[in-house]
Formats: sequence, C-alpha cells, structure tokens
Amino acid sequence: MLYIAEIYQSVQGEGEFTGTSSIFVRTTGCNLRCWFCDTPFTSWKPEGDAQSIEQVLNRVAELDAQHVVVTGGEPLLLPEIVPLTAELRSRGHFVTVETAGTVFREATADLMSISPKLANSTPSTERSLVWSQRHEQLRHRPEVIRSLISALPYQFKFVIDRPDDVAQVEEWLAGFQEIDRDRVWLMPQATTRDELAVKTDWIRKAAGTSGFQFTSRLHIEQFGNARGH
Ligand code: SF4
Repeated sequence: MLYIAEIYQSVQGEGEFTGTSSIFVRTTGCNLRCWFCDTPFTSWKPEGDAQSIEQVLNRVAELDAQHVVVTGGEPLLLPEIVPLTAELRSRGHFVTVETAGTVFREATADLMSISPKLANSTPSTERSLVWSQRHEQLRHRPEVIRSLISALPYQFKFVIDRPDDVAQVEEWLAGFQEIDRDRVWLMPQATTRDELAVKTDWIRKAAGTSGFQFTSRLHIEQFGNARGH
C-alpha cells in the first residue's frame, strides 16, 4: 500500500518546470524532520490514508495533466513507488520524483528532483531531542545521492534561509565533482508570501554570483502555502 496525504492538480512551483500544469501525488511519512518543513502534515504530524497503486492511478486518471510529481514526505521510503512510477511512465506521463536524497529506490523518473538537507535544516533539541539527533545522522547520504544521479536526469534544489547557507551549498557540492552546477537551484526558505518577498532579492543575486539557478516558490507566491495547491 501507499500512504497518501493528497492527490491534486496544480502548477509546479519550483525548479526547472516551474509553471507547468502537474498532478501531485503526495505521500505521507518522512525519515527527516526539517524545522522549516512546509508539509508538516507529512512529517511532524503525518496524515493520510493507505491506498493501493490502482487507487492512486485511478485518481491520477481523473485529473488532466501530463506531468505527475511524486512527492512527500519522502516518497522513496515506500517500495510501491517503484511500480507506481513505472506505470505512470508507461501511461505517457512525465514523471518527477521529489526526494531529500537519503533513500534509494529504482524509481522510474524523467526528473529526479533532489533537495538535500543542509545543517540549517536540523530541528533544535528543544523542539525534539530525538529528531534533532536522528535528522542530523540521516540527512547526508552521499552514496544515495550518487546512485540517484547516476541513473536519471536530475536537479538539485537547496533551501536557503541565511546568507551563510550559500557557503554550505558550496561545501556540500565540493564532495560531488560530478554534479553539474547548471542543475543546482537555490530557493528561499519560506512558508509565507512575506518571508518569500524578503529573501528573494539577495538569494537571486547570490545564485547569479555563484553560477547557480534561482527558483522562487510559485505556490507560496500564489497561494501562501495553502494545502492542495
Ligand atoms: S525532508 Fe521534506 S517532508 Fe521531510 S521534514 Fe524535510 S521538508 Fe519536510
């Protein structure tokens, strides 16, 4: 079974396919606990129900977009993602899998969209001692990143909260000479329109200076991170 938080149609809000009409299949459950998680209903307080692959495919068929984004939570925690993504592809969908890059599965994807979690993502010990430690232990899995990018087209999206986070991205990338910088996107840490507006300018400039791409977060610009968009 797949554990599903929501399936809906909207536009892709981040990265290379920003603005593309897409169906989002959002699994629930995550092995990490970013303090800034913008989908806490899949991580800190997971919600959703068990659905068969057939139920998910039937719901996708009711909607109307070629692009399907399999996201979470952490979708690669679920073994059923492998047959689900293969079937979506065989039905003619362009499949993007969004992952934090800590779990490997042989999913089928036209784009593996990886959002590695830097030290700036770790929750405080005050919020949760257990999750602070577990998150820190799990968030960086270089061997998983290598397996994911060796098999499939990829993009990397890094959440940037403060100016010194850009140096952390450089440090992280120094461990992966094989990653193409053109496929690296910086995006603001934001869950509200105001937060996004404050950070957009300096992160856009920092991306330009460093040779990275900048991505806003269209769904926050348009809907203020309301669920189902
Ligand atoms: S990896 Fe993604 S879903 Fe999991 S806690 Fe971090 S932001 Fe939330």
